[in-house]
Amino acid sequence: MVSDLTTYARRLPFVRLPVWAFRIPSHTAFRTYAALLTFANLNTGACWPSHAAIASAAGLGEKTARRALDELRALGIVTWKRQHDANGQTSNRYTVAIDPETPPAGLAEPVDNSPVTVSLTVTPRSERPSPVGQVDRRNENQENKNQGNETRASAPALDARCSRHPGLADPPACRGCRDARIAAEASAAAEAEAEKARRAAALLTLDPAAVEALSVRLGGVYSAEAITDAARAEMPGNLPLGLRMLASRADAADAIARWER
Ligand SMILES: [Zn+2]
Repeated sequence: MVSDLTTYARRLPFVRLPVWAFRIPSHTAFRTYAALLTFANLNTGACWPSHAAIASAAGLGEKTARRALDELRALGIVTWKRQHDANGQTSNRYTVAIDPETPPAGLAEPVDNSPVTVSLTVTPRSERPSPVGQVDRRNENQENKNQGNETRASAPALDARCSRHPGLADPPACRGCRDARIAAEASAAAEAEAEKARRAAALLTLDPAAVEALSVRLGGVYSAEAITDAARAEMPGNLPLGLRMLASRADAADAIARWER
């Protein structure tokens, strides 16, 4: 193992990563990239480690490391060329992306092409939004007095605005905006309750097609009611799961026959 690591290159005892490396999607590709950096010339990104050396440095199996290399190549982070040495053996010459200022194509951050809106409407000073990125303590204190902290905590998902302040990143303390936000929160809470009820109801009803499928499989002699009762006996609080459990039983027919009347 040690010779694997030293045959092609002298390794660094540590690595410094460009911050864009944290956007590499898979753990194995991230490890493999970090491992390559321990071999690479930090000016050119060039290195010649064997697959075994890369895998060992990354703490991965060779097959996994090779897949990770393919992933890194697809992301534009690593390129390589096959090379033949004097003994006719092949090794790869890798070029690893190392410039912290230039993320590889596959890791480029999405570009925001939306137009910047400039409002020329003059608003009274008390309703002017704070400059972006700057907190207006006066407005914040006013809002805290008006609304308390609990509504602010959930505001990002429910940042409703009144008709006078639509699309404002940082709205002023405004009764209309506050009411719109409270209404949005109430409707979101009601929607969450309804969703909970829908899920609970779904656990107590069976898909007729699934019931029919089991019925057909068992010769079509059992009623949907008996099958439903038998599924309920399997799992009273979750009929769809009960039906699956019932269907997997070798004696499903007998279990259902008991509920036939
Ligand atoms: Zn408003």
